[in-house]
Amino acid sequence: MADSLVPRDLQKVYSGEEIRSLEARYLTPAIHHYYQEPLLIIGGEGASLVDSAGKRYIDLFAGICTAITGYSHPKFVATLKWQVERLVYASTLYATVPQAVLAEKLARIGPEGLTQAFVVNSGSEANEAALFMARKYTGSPYIVACHHGYHGRTALLRETSTAGWRTAAEAHPPGVRFTPNGYCYRCAFGKTYPSCGIECANYLREVIRTETNGRLAAFIVEPIQGVGGIIQPPPEYFTITYDIVKEYGGLYIADEVQTGFGRTGGKWWGIEQSGIEPDIITMAKGFAGGIPIGGFLTRPEFATGYCMHDSFSTFGGNPLSCAAAVAVIEIIQESGYLQRASDTGGYLKDRLTECQSRHNLVGDVRGQGMMLGVELVRDRASKEPAGEEMLHVMESCKSRGLLIGRGGIDGNVIRIQPPLELTRDQAAEACDILEEAIGQAQSGLS
Ligand code: PMP
Repeated sequence: MADSLVPRDLQKVYSGEEIRSLEARYLTPAIHHYYQEPLLIIGGEGASLVDSAGKRYIDLFAGICTAITGYSHPKFVATLKWQVERLVYASTLYATVPQAVLAEKLARIGPEGLTQAFVVNSGSEANEAALFMARKYTGSPYIVACHHGYHGRTALLRETSTAGWRTAAEAHPPGVRFTPNGYCYRCAFGKTYPSCGIECANYLREVIRTETNGRLAAFIVEPIQGVGGIIQPPPEYFTITYDIVKEYGGLYIADEVQTGFGRTGGKWWGIEQSGIEPDIITMAKGFAGGIPIGGFLTRPEFATGYCMHDSFSTFGGNPLSCAAAVAVIEIIQESGYLQRASDTGGYLKDRLTECQSRHNLVGDVRGQGMMLGVELVRDRASKEPAGEEMLHVMESCKSRGLLIGRGGIDGNVIRIQPPLELTRDQAAEACDILEEAIGQAQSGLS
């Protein structure tokens, strides 16, 4: 129904072509969409999205691993409306209720001892702030990040991220070093787990000894790499790197932007699956279910030196984002998402593993909970990345009503990171569609 107070241009019914032509004329090419014929999404409910032609899609990617409570969740919508009618913005020059309520909730769900929050607008900002704090606390400029990682798009964070995200014109901030990630399917050392001695993790000592002055500010790691292609290191990767980081005086930062808020199943944070106790976790994406937000949680001893002039964010901690995040946390609790992520994620992984046994195109199935990856290869022996076949799988999933994500340095990994609202029936239907699409791409190969 039309609303006379809402801008008419927003209420008009557009075709996909009309919107694409506006975009082509007025947006920079940095805005890039999936699919040969991009989708115009106009709504959604639960774990499905609807396009301008009224077609429904099961969404296995949650935007980009973000709409954790799905679309139009009644509690989420009601909370946002309630907050909009009271206060959208006042700045952190003043105290507001949602930020304080959120900080307390985060302290309760955070890993043991991480009780101090800093709330900003995005994952990039959260990581930038956390790394600044670590450098200030330790007095060291050196940050070690992992191959295939992704931490954001500021000048510093591009430099901590995987190759495809670095472009020619950027400056290279000093002090960033790299160490191998735990990528068993393509081990950097040509070894096989578990007889490998977890060389990938132990190599961190070599990096610190040879490429720094021996004093570390921070090691930053994703519990499961998302953009890099859902790469989950063996559990020892975390315990070994933790001990090395502590030996050289650094802070251990778990980038939970993708793995946070129950996505890995059973626990709130991906790093908790490894048993280590990080010094900082950073978060964004699912944090406020799609409303812009980011932040970190840390221990009081690291937070005390992080003072007034060290950071400020105009939109940081704003009432709307914080209220949305409070609603998301409660929905996760009330809807039993942690358990659902384990159960539905376990079902999805079993089905994908069966699919692997039937199709040579599937080289590897990996991940945990609702964060799963399917790496496509042209040939199981050479493991040649199947980037083109991946595009084919995406297109045919789309035509059958299924949305998936794409990742990996060669763009050949299917990313499955759905809203935690996904039902078992939707998961089953999604697996049928995906297997059909993989079968079709596979027959194109032979
Ligand atoms: N860290 C990780 C692990 C991410 O996946 C991303 C975004 N893909 C970021 C940080 C940066 O988040 P944002 O895009 O919100 O700046």
